Amino acid sequence: MTKQPFTTKEKLEEIAAQFPTPFHLYDEAGIRRNAQALKDAFAWNKGFKEYFAVKATPNPFLIKILREYGCGCDCSSKTELMLSKAVGAVGEDVMFSSNDTPAEEFQYAADMGAIINLDDITHIEVLEKTLGRLPERICCRYNPGGEFKITTDIMDNPGEAKYGMTTEQIFDAFRILKAKGVKEFGIHAFLASNTVTNAYYPVLAGVLFDLAVRLQKETGANIRFINLSGGVGIPYRPDQEPNDIAEIGKGVKEVYDRILVPAGMGDVSIFTELGRFMIGPYGALVTRVINEKHTYKEYIGVDACAANLMRPAMYGAYHHITVMGKENEPATCTYDVTGSLCENNDKFAVDRALPKIDIGDLLYIHDTGAHGFSMGYNYNGKLRSAEILLKENGDFEMIRRAETPKDYFATFDCFPAFYEKVLNA
Ligand SMILES: *Cc1c(COP(=O)(O)O)cnc(C)c1O
Repeated sequence: MTKQPFTTKEKLEEIAAQFPTPFHLYDEAGIRRNAQALKDAFAWNKGFKEYFAVKATPNPFLIKILREYGCGCDCSSKTELMLSKAVGAVGEDVMFSSNDTPAEEFQYAADMGAIINLDDITHIEVLEKTLGRLPERICCRYNPGGEFKITTDIMDNPGEAKYGMTTEQIFDAFRILKAKGVKEFGIHAFLASNTVTNAYYPVLAGVLFDLAVRLQKETGANIRFINLSGGVGIPYRPDQEPNDIAEIGKGVKEVYDRILVPAGMGDVSIFTELGRFMIGPYGALVTRVINEKHTYKEYIGVDACAANLMRPAMYGAYHHITVMGKENEPATCTYDVTGSLCENNDKFAVDRALPKIDIGDLLYIHDTGAHGFSMGYNYNGKLRSAEILLKENGDFEMIRRAETPKDYFATFDCFPAFYEKVLNA
């Protein structure tokens, strides 16, 4: 199997003539197709709602596309809440799934009517003190501890994760919240990241539905929704089988019909907070080869760096690379593809088999639509790239400009003499 770019070399050169590389490019048609498929997969659940994890791709133009499919926003900071508000997502269209939360951010979330998802039992008191009362509807984040397994495969390690309440704590939290007058409850858990298996959501749903039935029985809480959060992954490697969202929806329905319906909880809404799955495959980092170097290894130097896409440097993550125009040439060379940071982990690929690359070639780095641009940073004085939307009709549009030195130095504007000097240097 091989991975195909969602556009052509000709189109990329056309875009690059107007917006110099590097840039992140997004595929509107793919985003729309996928958002519709998710909606269809959970159409069996009357209250279903996807809260797009804003941190994955915090671009208002992309979020507005998702809003057309009924998506709300999942936020974890004040600025993400501000972005949501600016695209018209307020009230029940916003889930505030934060952790280590500053009290004033609870206030901001409450003021815009967001659903607050409490990461910890101690936040009940903080929230009550901050707001002067508790909201009528509240969600609690659960962490069952231990390892999260699908049959015998260890998927992730919740016991080592900082998020959520223990089993005992969530029971206590529900009792306390109920006694304090909270009327409607939700449960949330995020137990494994980037799962490439249709079994993750159904297994997670089983854990949360069992918990919901027990919580309802033992505390009398009125549970209105269960939030399966993020974690449905994408196939970064060409040999991986993509998740089938229709199968995933069916799998969750089976567990729902088996556990919730017989418990008289057949009216509970299913929420999701997908980020990676929503946009990951529909974004690419487009970068041009500017150098080659032959020392102990063969290096290809590009005009993007880890500041544009941190995942390979940070997690050793694999991102497939297509040399545009050489899609059908044999991979006869082995390269390290590097950026220009003064950090040896600034490599988009290590020992990667690729066709022979020439200076000037365009490289298409796949699957950067989520946790790509958004994890960007300014180390080594690097500037964030532009974001471009490739529209359904083939036109393209800039949806965020590239940073300039003025942006990099902006926080020195309180020292006017220096600010003027450095900008004119
Ligand atoms: C990061 C995050 C998500 C999205 O995760 P993906 O792996 O991108 O689907 C959802 N919910 C919360 C609370 C998160 O922190």
